[in-house]
Amino acid sequence: MDTIEITLPDGAKREVSSGTTPAEIARQISRGLAKEALVARVDGQLWDLSRPLDQNTSLAILTPKDPEAIQVLRHSAAHLLAAAVIELFPGVKLGIGPPIDNGFFYEFLRAEPFTSQDLERIENKMRELASQDIPNERKLLPKPEALKLYRESQQEFKCELVEEKATEPMVSFYTTGNFVDFCRGPHIPSTGRIKAFKLTNVAGAYWKGQEGNPQMQRIYAVCFYSQAELDEYLHKLEEAKRRDHRKLGPELDLFSIQDEAGPGLIFWHPKGGLIRKLVEDWLRDELLRRGYDLVFTPHVMRLDLWKTSGHTGYYRDNMFSPIEIEKADYQLKPMNCPGHILIYKAHLRSYRELPLRFAELGTVYRYERSGVLHGLLRVRGFTQDDAHIFCRPDQIESEVEACVDFAFAVMKTFGFDRYEVELSVWDAAHPENYAGKPEDWNRATAALADTLERMKIPYKRIEGEAAFYGPKIDVKLIDAIGRPWQLTTVQFDFNLPARFGLEYVGEDGARHQPLMVHRALLGSIERFFGILIEHYAGAFPAWLAPVQASVLPLSEKFSEYAKSVEAKLRDAGIRVHVDDRNEKLQAKIRDAQLQKIPYMLIVGGKEAESSSVSVRHRTKGDLGPQPLDQFIASLRAEIENKAIR
Ligand SMILES: [Zn+2]
Ligand SMILES: [Zn+2]
Repeated sequence: MDTIEITLPDGAKREVSSGTTPAEIARQISRGLAKEALVARVDGQLWDLSRPLDQNTSLAILTPKDPEAIQVLRHSAAHLLAAAVIELFPGVKLGIGPPIDNGFFYEFLRAEPFTSQDLERIENKMRELASQDIPNERKLLPKPEALKLYRESQQEFKCELVEEKATEPMVSFYTTGNFVDFCRGPHIPSTGRIKAFKLTNVAGAYWKGQEGNPQMQRIYAVCFYSQAELDEYLHKLEEAKRRDHRKLGPELDLFSIQDEAGPGLIFWHPKGGLIRKLVEDWLRDELLRRGYDLVFTPHVMRLDLWKTSGHTGYYRDNMFSPIEIEKADYQLKPMNCPGHILIYKAHLRSYRELPLRFAELGTVYRYERSGVLHGLLRVRGFTQDDAHIFCRPDQIESEVEACVDFAFAVMKTFGFDRYEVELSVWDAAHPENYAGKPEDWNRATAALADTLERMKIPYKRIEGEAAFYGPKIDVKLIDAIGRPWQLTTVQFDFNLPARFGLEYVGEDGARHQPLMVHRALLGSIERFFGILIEHYAGAFPAWLAPVQASVLPLSEKFSEYAKSVEAKLRDAGIRVHVDDRNEKLQAKIRDAQLQKIPYMLIVGGKEAESSSVSVRHRTKGDLGPQPLDQFIASLRAEIENKAIR
């Protein structure tokens, strides 16, 4: 018999007879590996463990440790779902069933909608089939036979798929017991490995995503290797739901989106507005302290300006339509950059003036399709904490470092301690696709990388991901439940300075083009607010809380004293509210908790006599009686220190 040579990932070579399967090789290597194995990688391609090898190849046996294996498990679980549905609902027609992030779906055509009871039955049937450890077997059929098989079982969507996707004379199928699916595979060896899954919901989707096609029902599921991983994921989902800013926004009366005004446009209610003021105040103070100049620019400017900047070309689809006034077209601004450039150009600049750092809380309007709008996170009108830095080449290192330092100050102040940093650079093989000179790119990219290294900030370098106009650093914050949020960006621009002919007079008396950096720290105030609501689960730290303390008199008898406590707190600059409703104390406490007010001050006869308050904290609970002056001093300190909790 012929022998073939198998090269393993560590470089070791093995001679085996042709027709040997990866599963057999795994068994030769170790029993442990054979037990853990899910799928193989053969010359870079995923491959069933039971599929024979017939030529010299490189081979890797994949286990749960390999990131690609989980999608194979999920895809096999999708087949298991379809197998269960076919058994319980024999008439359904099958669509597609791919793996997705965290799970999989399978789509079906059925006249009646799947109910939650149906999902339960299907899930139970899946567990039953999984426990039978049914093998997933790969078979090949000639294309005409494959079509005949599906025609006979009246699976017309599958016929369509075979017609379109099967490019070779032989078509691959997978069987799981009685269930047969046209599929390229690969799959895990048998159903027994599918242990931790949950059907989550059913959603409608047109066949192939095309309107007018039949409406399929997609059954979605989450799926992991172990129940512990699944539970952790489901817990995170629950937490995300509990923290959803679209739910907390109205509950805490922070903001709204009004249908009457239009989608994607945010109304800041008094409490949300107050938090915004506090965030903006902090930011403006920091900007001034760090050598920025505050500027303001108009919301509409001539369309011609956006032609000069190039936005009417590559950014056109994201802009509102122009407005005509006195026979000239005006454009609602989608970005602040051209405005800041006009301020730069208002005089001839000298090298001595640089760097110039123009900062603006600049409100911009962008067209986003209504389908992608999402609470505060994707909107049509928002305020960027934008800045543009114009500097000399010898200043870029220190400017980049200052930007990164500022970004870290944001994270520290608002209580984020985890982050991811990405450096997006150009594709050096294709300089023709980019604006600017190679030496500019190299210098700017080196400045970004060196700064991160000098500051000992770990980062991921992404080749070819830079915008055409310059390299950039992106900082993603990781929130309280481990989700990343893209926030800060520090971006070089070699395009706009050239398009607008920016100059400065150098030390040598000659004209030079300044370097330009766009940078936003919070991104947009709206989005940052949404992230903060979710990060804090609505419980803003005392320095940001719209109401910092609520005074709860035990009864009307003590409202006089409650008023005096309120006055003292207010004099100390504390945002306070007296709940003098004729309600039981328990009800007042519950409402203050629901409003996530940091401190509740319970006052009755004892407290009035001794000028004290009984303090309750929203998470720490009962803190006991305290002299009023002492409480005020400690809350003042908490606010001044911007303590996170
Ligand atoms: Zn499949
Ligand atoms: Zn900009």
